Amino acid sequence: AKIKEVVFVKSSSRAKDCPKHDRPEFAILGRSNVGKSSLINALVRKKDVALTSKKPGKTKLINHFLVNKSWYFVDLPGYGFAKAPEAARMDWSAFTKGFFLNRDNLVTVLLLVDASVPPQRIDLDCANWLGRNNIPLTFVFTKCDKMKGGKGRDELLLHMSQLRNYWDQ
Ligand code: GDP
Repeated sequence: AKIKEVVFVKSSSRAKDCPKHDRPEFAILGRSNVGKSSLINALVRKKDVALTSKKPGKTKLINHFLVNKSWYFVDLPGYGFAKAPEAARMDWSAFTKGFFLNRDNLVTVLLLVDASVPPQRIDLDCANWLGRNNIPLTFVFTKCDKMKGGKGRDELLLHMSQLRNYWDQ
């Protein structure tokens, strides 16, 4: 269905401060700089919506947006650093695990993965943790246009199988 209206509802620092579990929600998660804001802006075709999460102090917050008065779009803090070494691990202690474990209205987590590089340790950690906790997960590849060598499809399938293996563990 077409996205007609997007309204910012609130920013929460903890799961228990989030809006009531009264509507289906889709959460968007990924490494910093993976293209989260660009995707949100493209989806809602409104330049200023995702900017909320870029304001200082808001980056660690869970941001709820109500779409078409019927479902929530949830912008989660980016993990890792833009220039993180490949070996960086997921620091769940600094992240809001409670959100994933306590939202029974969570339809799926959209996990954004940069397709122009092999899946990073931290993405695999993230997929693995979500999988072990039975959180529904959908992989979304970004930056497909930056994939090298014209072998896009094969390379994507390879990334996908690596991620899936971790998710299934
Ligand atoms: P965020 O930190 O995850 O919100 O990432 P942004 O949406 O701010 O994007 C980070 C950088 O990647 C920006 O310079 C974007 O222009 C760029 N970017 C985002 N999506 C794509 C994509 O699909 N292809 C390419 N080539 N660049 C992208």
